Amino acid sequence: VNNFWNPIINLGNFYNSLVSGSVYLERIFELMDIEPSVKDSEDAFEMPPVKGDVEFRDVTFGYKEGQTIFEELNFHVKPGETIALVGPTGAGKSTITNLISRFYDVQKGSILIDGIDIRDVTLDSLRNQVGVMLQDTFIFSGTILENIRYGKLDATHEEIVEAAKIVRADEFISGMKHGYRTIVQERGSTLSAGQRQLISFARTLLADPKVLILDEATSSIDTQTEVLLQEGLDRLLEGRTAFIVAHRLSTIRNSDRIFYIGDKKILESGSHEELMQQKGLYYQLYRTQSELLKKV
Ligand code: ADP
Repeated sequence: VNNFWNPIINLGNFYNSLVSGSVYLERIFELMDIEPSVKDSEDAFEMPPVKGDVEFRDVTFGYKEGQTIFEELNFHVKPGETIALVGPTGAGKSTITNLISRFYDVQKGSILIDGIDIRDVTLDSLRNQVGVMLQDTFIFSGTILENIRYGKLDATHEEIVEAAKIVRADEFISGMKHGYRTIVQERGSTLSAGQRQLISFARTLLADPKVLILDEATSSIDTQTEVLLQEGLDRLLEGRTAFIVAHRLSTIRNSDRIFYIGDKKILESGSHEELMQQKGLYYQLYRTQSELLKKV
């Protein structure tokens, strides 16, 4: 039953981190008539500017009493590292990302960003710096310009074009008859899946979170678009710590470290090359996925 709320919670998360302030989130919780599970502590302080060091210290967590998704999970990620989270469905990849943006509190242990326990800072100041990017789902009806501006409401036209250029989105936008003024629809077909993702990249670049969480879109795209997206993503990730619930092999291979999640812990961790040499679970997953891709 609880899973039903997941998309709504994620929606709140998105608004909260990219449009700033928790007003939207509160409104969504109001509509749902439930109490948000986490609140600012009475003496919460503002999170100082984040460098991007993320540490899980003996984290035990479950969504319900008596259930544990993780037991004494430990890891330490350095500023600027890109981590790909892989493993079977239901293993807890999204749960890790939910915990970093503090949608739930841990049962035991702690989560530290730059050495600060995230329960000690205000949710607003945390979520302004820990951004969640949903790749192709969040296109609003309006112009492309407006869609990118959601990342930073006071961005100038120049800033928006600059952001689009950096993440390789400008080319397709400028090629359209109305350019940045092109009207797109929430569920329309004006944009391809790849183009939607490039717009999300530009929007996120403007929002400029130092810790970025990304649930990679699973939509199928052609090889040429994949190369473009990989370039755009690489540029977006520069200077940020990123946790990617990754589906594309190119993203996984390009990450600094891969965490293979299963059995309530990290079963394997290392670079693509290291894990391939181990010939363990990641190796098997990679082999199966490459085979599947060849057949498409
Ligand atoms: P993954 O991202 O690896 O597919 P998840 O982190 O989404 O895995 O889920 C891990 C486990 O937690 C699953 O058993 C799932 O059913 C459960 N779960 C996920 N979200 C919730 C929630 N909001 N409430 C209760 N259980 C949840």
